[in-house]
Amino acid sequence: MHDAANDLNACGIRCTPQRLEVYSALQRCLGHPTAEELHRLVTERRQARGEAGSVSLATVYNTLEALCGLGLARRLPGPRAGLSGAAECRAARYEAAGREHYHAYTPDGSAHDIPEDLGRRMREAIPEELLREFEARTGLRASRVVIEVESDGAA
Ligand SMILES: [Zn+2]
Repeated sequence: MHDAANDLNACGIRCTPQRLEVYSALQRCLGHPTAEELHRLVTERRQARGEAGSVSLATVYNTLEALCGLGLARRLPGPRAGLSGAAECRAARYEAAGREHYHAYTPDGSAHDIPEDLGRRMREAIPEELLREFEARTGLRASRVVIEVESDGAA
């Protein structure tokens, strides 16, 4: 695990105890929490340690956005509105930045990591010539292509 305080300081973000707690909680989290879930985790840890005061949900949101801006965390693209029912109502999910990997989404809105090697092979299955054609036909540069799987349940 990275040293959270060093990461924050290295990026020039003011390392308040609250921000550090949010970042640490995100790093420890194995899943892909929403801001609300992370807020609950931070609050529970504080209570378990018998600490006074609290970290507000707004601080969690602001810290997550700052971390994303600094490249220390990622906001998952998530299911897009219109693709799967009430997807537009789902809260954004976050993860600490690490090795790049892709995600599969299930109807409950949770994100599952696609094994790194499998995701890479799926991505590489898109031929470069298709990406060149995409660029030629849309006039847009394909700077990054991600693989996203939507699942309606167990295979
Ligand atoms: Zn992930």
